[in-house]
Amino acid sequence: MEQNGAPENGAPAAGLPQPAKLQEVPYTKLFINNEWQRSSKGASFPTFNPATGVKICDVEEGDTADVDRAVRAARAAGRSGAPWRKMEPSARGRLLHGLADLLERDRVLLATLETMDTGKPFLQSFFIDLDGSIKTLRYYAGWADKNQGKSLPVDESFMCFTKHEPVGVCGAIIPWNFPLLMFTWKVAPALSCGNTVVVKPAEQTPLTAVHMGALIKEAGFPPGVVNIVPGFGPSAGAAIAGHMDVDKVAFTGSTEVGQLVQAAAASSNLKRTTLELGGKNACIVFADADLALAVAEAQKGAFYNQGQCCTAASRVFVEESVHDEFVRLSVESAKSIVIGDPLDPRTAHGPQIDRRQLEKILDLVASGEEDGARLECGGGTLEGGGLFFHPTIFSGVEDHMRIATEEIFGPVQCIFSFKTQQEAVQRANSTRFGLVAAVFTRRMDRALSVSSALEAGTVWVNCYNALHAQTPFGGYKMSGNGRELGEYALAEYSEVKAVTIKLRETL
Ligand code: ADP
Repeated sequence: MEQNGAPENGAPAAGLPQPAKLQEVPYTKLFINNEWQRSSKGASFPTFNPATGVKICDVEEGDTADVDRAVRAARAAGRSGAPWRKMEPSARGRLLHGLADLLERDRVLLATLETMDTGKPFLQSFFIDLDGSIKTLRYYAGWADKNQGKSLPVDESFMCFTKHEPVGVCGAIIPWNFPLLMFTWKVAPALSCGNTVVVKPAEQTPLTAVHMGALIKEAGFPPGVVNIVPGFGPSAGAAIAGHMDVDKVAFTGSTEVGQLVQAAAASSNLKRTTLELGGKNACIVFADADLALAVAEAQKGAFYNQGQCCTAASRVFVEESVHDEFVRLSVESAKSIVIGDPLDPRTAHGPQIDRRQLEKILDLVASGEEDGARLECGGGTLEGGGLFFHPTIFSGVEDHMRIATEEIFGPVQCIFSFKTQQEAVQRANSTRFGLVAAVFTRRMDRALSVSSALEAGTVWVNCYNALHAQTPFGGYKMSGNGRELGEYALAEYSEVKAVTIKLRETL
């Protein structure tokens, strides 16, 4: 989301929000039917602070039987005649606003939990993730009584209209990079349209999702409307994707798992799917651009959230005449990024999420060097071990290299040089992904023609990572199906019913 008021890299701590001092994590169980429940098999799993490697707490581990229980609760809560179905649509909106109020009240606590669980810098959690989550809830609160059908101009012996109805029980499978934000991107439109929900947070980062259970109950949502089942992908996640009584699943994560989710949806009950998957996103910087702005925004795109974003700007195409200056300024800026304890409000760059992801980054960086790209800065972990990885820049990258084709999901910026506009667009589009892209230029005609030619669900002009609750988000090609956010997301959570009435008499 927009960086509303988020301070600059390494800003002094005085006057900034401070994290909460947590003695213990208040909520760690499954949330089903507005009750805290143990997992059926009595299992739990640890969640770790990636900045220290220290266990934060154990969380109850849901699997197939627990997903079944949650789906039954969600089905009952959405049955016709149940309080949730009888409720006026505007009352659903008031509940969503009430939930947003509670996020504002618990903002410091939620931002602290998010930072402890993900390693993202505290002020980014506080300003960007919390702000985005609150705005998403309020935006869909407003839609609750406006998702209306149409009256259709058929021949006059009929009256024909459409109604938008809830799809039913919606599964939401959440990634670890933006746990709270992705929760709200899925749950807010689902509830606005009158659905009920079963959420599975990522196993690395369950804490804010589970805390949301407490806030959902306090806000007054009827039992069973939102159910939260922490657990692992191949068990709890797969149970949602393949469930015969789940009507829709919304998934954010890797393209590989997205394919599994779509296959499970198809081979079970053909549930609807929205998939928000990987990216290998291109930024095109023309010589006429404001270079300082392009450097700063492209770098934000590459390194934000430690590069762990499906929107990461991992391929930056720079026009030949400004290429060397762009690289010089980018390296200077990358070296000034403050890395450290994510709970310290001055920190701008935290650790990677876990060892597996770090190994993947190290492997890809080594392949970049072997393939002959020039390592301009970074390239390794912070001294003293841990999961901290230096912001890294490669120049002289060629399109065939692994670092140019594979999603890195780490703070690695690959810079390429180009000669013509046509060449830049063609190279930007030669990928199986199509999530986002950006263009930097002062020429409006160029901005418009290049943004039309780019094959991506979002194109940013002279900015990066500018996300708004009003603006649809989703991918072309293997970056996914469907759209989240904005009015477009309402269609993903609504069934359209056409009612046709034969009129006995026409005048
Ligand atoms: P990453 O590779 O970045 O960890 P994943 O795509 O594996 O991302 O995970 C995203 C979400 O998908 C997580 O909540 C994870 O538990 C879940 N998941 C993983 N495997 C499956 C699966 N087979 N079916 C359903 N969900 C899964």
